[in-house]
Amino acid sequence: YSVRVSPIRAEGERQRHVLLVFRDVSELNAAPTMRRDFVANVSHELKTPLTAVMGFVETLQGPAREDPKGRDRFLALMAQELSRMNRLVSDLLSLSRLEGQSRRRPTGRVDLAELITDLIAALEPGAADNDVDIEFDSPPTAMAPGDRDQLTQVVTNLVENAVKYGARPGIVTVTLRRVTREPVIRGPAWRIAVTDRGAGIPPEHIPRLTERFYRVDTGRSREQGGTGLGLAIVKHIINRHRGRLQITSELGKGTTVTVTLPAEVNA
Ligand code: ADP
Repeated sequence: YSVRVSPIRAEGERQRHVLLVFRDVSELNAAPTMRRDFVANVSHELKTPLTAVMGFVETLQGPAREDPKGRDRFLALMAQELSRMNRLVSDLLSLSRLEGQSRRRPTGRVDLAELITDLIAALEPGAADNDVDIEFDSPPTAMAPGDRDQLTQVVTNLVENAVKYGARPGIVTVTLRRVTREPVIRGPAWRIAVTDRGAGIPPEHIPRLTERFYRVDTGRSREQGGTGLGLAIVKHIINRHRGRLQITSELGKGTTVTVTLPAEVNA
């Protein structure tokens, strides 16, 4: 803590008072370490695909040179690693943009029912390739103040996680409901819940899932093309919208991620 002491004495008063201001500076002190860890993490995450691509290039220059089948395979693997790097850089850019806007409230208004219907239509073919069905239950319209692109990113990340880490074959359920009084938001709200029937998340991991690069199973996340930044981005966007994020999970049963967002008052 840093402590500031200021004596105060109202005019004509005999008794002296002292104002003590305690400020928790642990976060300020932690900032340089956090930045160092973050840079180390980013470097590591970029270096892994980069090393792989360099290896493939060497193979293409050498042993695979005269082997058309091998060449195609190595080119496909290179494309996969490069698209991982591309996703990582896009996610890093999103995060840094969001950090810059954290104090500015979004100015648009969106129909969440329409937004979710559209994004599910876009995600359904990819989910079907993995034997996963997506169900959506919603009122016909759901108006909320917010940034369309950012809220699309929130729900997309949650549905993609449910498809990636859920059961296969399986069903992902998305529900959108109106809540008349949300105690934390203090007013009407929309609640979006994304449920999968996957292996679930051990409880000790749940509080850390929104940290950058935090993964329960790094191998599984990488294999699925994850960057480890999805939920960190989700959390930033929800904070900017003055909403709430809750994750509940039961091992062996599945996970539900719930987002509550302030509703337009007369929606
Ligand atoms: P990633 O790119 O690794 O998916 P996220 O930030 O989206 O990164 O998620 C962080 C981690 O949280 C994931 O690596 C995974 O271990 C865990 N996770 C997220 N959603 C689920 C889910 N629906 N079921 C089980 N684990 C999940």
